Amino acid sequence: MGLILVRYGEIAIKGGNRHLFVSRLRRNIRAALRAHGIDAEVSSQGQRILVRTEQVEPALEPLSCTPGIVSLSPVVEVPSEIEAIEREALRLAAVEGVSTERTYCVRARRPWKQFPLTSVEINQRVGGAIHRQFAASANLSQPDVTLTIEVRPETTLLSTRTIAGQGGLPVGSEGKVVVLLSGGIDSPVAAWMMIKRGCGIIPVHFSQSESDTAKALANVEQLQRYSHGFELRPVVLDHAETIAPYLEGLQRIAQERWTCVFCKRAMLERASAVAQELGAHALVMGDSLGQVASQSLANLEVISHGISKPILRPLIGLDKADIVELARQIGTFDTSIREAEPCPFLPKGPVTRGTVGRLKGILQRLSQVDDRAVE
Ligand code: ATP
Ligand code: MG
Repeated sequence: MGLILVRYGEIAIKGGNRHLFVSRLRRNIRAALRAHGIDAEVSSQGQRILVRTEQVEPALEPLSCTPGIVSLSPVVEVPSEIEAIEREALRLAAVEGVSTERTYCVRARRPWKQFPLTSVEINQRVGGAIHRQFAASANLSQPDVTLTIEVRPETTLLSTRTIAGQGGLPVGSEGKVVVLLSGGIDSPVAAWMMIKRGCGIIPVHFSQSESDTAKALANVEQLQRYSHGFELRPVVLDHAETIAPYLEGLQRIAQERWTCVFCKRAMLERASAVAQELGAHALVMGDSLGQVASQSLANLEVISHGISKPILRPLIGLDKADIVELARQIGTFDTSIREAEPCPFLPKGPVTRGTVGRLKGILQRLSQVDDRAVE
């Protein structure tokens, strides 16, 4: 049976709620592995989680995608006795090809304080043995091979491989949000950032064309890789139907330039209703400040004015290049750049610097047009 050591960071400092976070993380790990058809036993040991499985290699990728995990290492387990530790360290050094040409470094930790040697003494003893056996030099800043040793009361765990995780918090530990998910590059990244901060996300997509909706749904599938333990159930609504009442009104009062602002407001209003119905606390959008003329600070103010749920914009301070880099990293970029039909409602000279005063004026005129329509 193989063994994987899972390290979590931020959740270790969550005080009284720690056990809730850790049990949520264990649950999500089980869900992620189950989704990949991997049988595993997941348990806690001190400040670590251990995953026992016959399928160590296939388990690494799903674990590296699970928020809350800082890093993970396939480990070998030996009794917590210095002779056994040294023997295994020499074997691992041989496997990794430590030699006159390949430097090494030993990093011991001793969560079990009763162990007779300190971390520094373990480093010296094991490092010395490797040096004698392989005539290799230690290199503490940039070693070719890093051997980590964790001396625990139950057993000692040794590893030469550390794989980075997502960091963040376990999905489900922070409640639910509705994400306005387009077929574009930005909103899937915003969604991933919220997943990584522990949110269960409810993707809401306003369908403009089949091709665009197919992109959004493909990205939901990709995002599911990061959200095991919380199933993503996209809500697809009709875009034209959502904005129709505003569109007609704006045409009647000859204010089509405000179409994009009202389109966003209409989407946010519908999304607020979905959030209310499904118990989500906030709405999430993929705006980044000033990225396009319509995402000016002034427009963000008028778009957000009077929307009942808080609107979170996790990408607000990121540059496009950073967002693209993240989109590539999480695997949504290639889908997002697939061609889709342009928005058919885009007006000539859309408003780029709206004011709340102007918005209120237009809302009032729209309601008057509405009243007349009723009479
Ligand atoms: P994205 O790359 O996320 O589409 P963008 O840079 O194209 O963003 P806009 O088209 O102005 O910017 O959209 C801003 C935000 O509005 C999006 O990030 C997304 O949250 C939301 N949004 C836009 N179109 C839709 C849609 N069809 N369905 C759901 N949300 C949408
Ligand atoms: Mg877009």
